[in-house]
Amino acid sequence: MRKLLRRPRRLRRSVALRDLVRENSLSAHDFILPLFVSEKISCRRPIGSMPGVEQLAPNEVAAEAARACATGLRAIILFGIPSEKDERASGAYAEKGVVQEAVRAIKKECPELLVITDVCLCEYMSHGHCGVTRMDGEHFHVHNDESVELLVKTAVSHAAAGADLVAPSDMMDGRVGAIREALDTAGFDQTAILSYAAKFASAFYGPFREAAESPPQFGDRRTYQMDPANAREALREVALDIEEGADIVMVKPALPYLDILWRVRERFGLTTAVYHVSGEYAMVKAAAERGWIDERQAVLEIMTGLKRAGADLIVTYWAKELAEWTRR
Ligand SMILES: [Zn+2]
Repeated sequence: MRKLLRRPRRLRRSVALRDLVRENSLSAHDFILPLFVSEKISCRRPIGSMPGVEQLAPNEVAAEAARACATGLRAIILFGIPSEKDERASGAYAEKGVVQEAVRAIKKECPELLVITDVCLCEYMSHGHCGVTRMDGEHFHVHNDESVELLVKTAVSHAAAGADLVAPSDMMDGRVGAIREALDTAGFDQTAILSYAAKFASAFYGPFREAAESPPQFGDRRTYQMDPANAREALREVALDIEEGADIVMVKPALPYLDILWRVRERFGLTTAVYHVSGEYAMVKAAAERGWIDERQAVLEIMTGLKRAGADLIVTYWAKELAEWTRR
C-alpha cells in the first residue's frame, strides 16, 4: 500500500483526542425554553401533539420558570393564551394581560432568569391572524401599518411588565423599527429586540397551533410569512430588521432552513438564533416513541447541527433535557 502522509483518523483514535479537536459543543446557555401560559386553565394541560410539553396555568408559570432556571438555562420565551379574543387583540397589550402578569410573576420568583416575550397578535385575535384583518369581498387582507401599531403597544406593555427581550414574530413590515422607537421613547432603551427576522410559512408549525390555540379561522399566513423557496429574500428581511434595530435575529423553522441560518450568520455576524419548531419536535418524539430512533442521541445531533450551521441560540422544547444532557 502507498505510504499515507495524511491520516485524519489519527485524531479520532480516543475520547481524549476527539474531545481535544471538537469544533462545536453545546451547553445550557445555548438554549431557550418556550413556555405557554393560559388564562383558560387552572392546572397544567398536556399538548397531545407535543408529548412532554404542557400549557401552564397562570399560577404555575413562575415555579416552572424556576425549575428551568435551576437546570442552568438562562432564558425562557413566553407565549400567552388569553381567556377572551377579539378583533383588536386587546388581550395582547392589556396591562393585566396573561403575558404581562406572567412576566411579573417570573421576574419576582427568579430575577436572574431572562424573560423573552413573543410579541404577536394571533393568540389574541378572534380570527387567529397575526395582524388586523380587512375583508374585501371574498378576499381578506392583513393590514400592515394598523397591525404594527398594536404590536408596538404589545411590546411596550411587555417591557413595562419587566421583559428583558421582546420578540416580534408577526412578520409585518417595519415593526422592528417602530418597536425600537416606542421602547426608547417610553424609557426602555435597555429592552432588547430578538426579531423573528426570517420566518417561513411552514407546515412544521402544526402542533404549535394546538399549543397556542392560534390557528387562522380563514385564509393562511402566506401574505406575511415567507415563501420557503426564497433565500435571497430572507437575507433582505434580516438586513431590514438589523437596520431597524434588532439586537438578535432569528430564523424559523430550523432544519429545513440551515442554508439560511448559515448565510445569515456569515453575512451579518450578529447574534443569530434559530427556532426548532413544534413539528420538528413532534417528528422525533413520534419516532422515538415507536423505538425507531434514539431520542437523546438524535436531539444532540440536531442541536449540534444547528450550532455548526451558525446558531448562537436555539429555541427548543428540549431545552430542560438538553441542560441536563450537556452538563459537564
Ligand atoms: Zn402570530
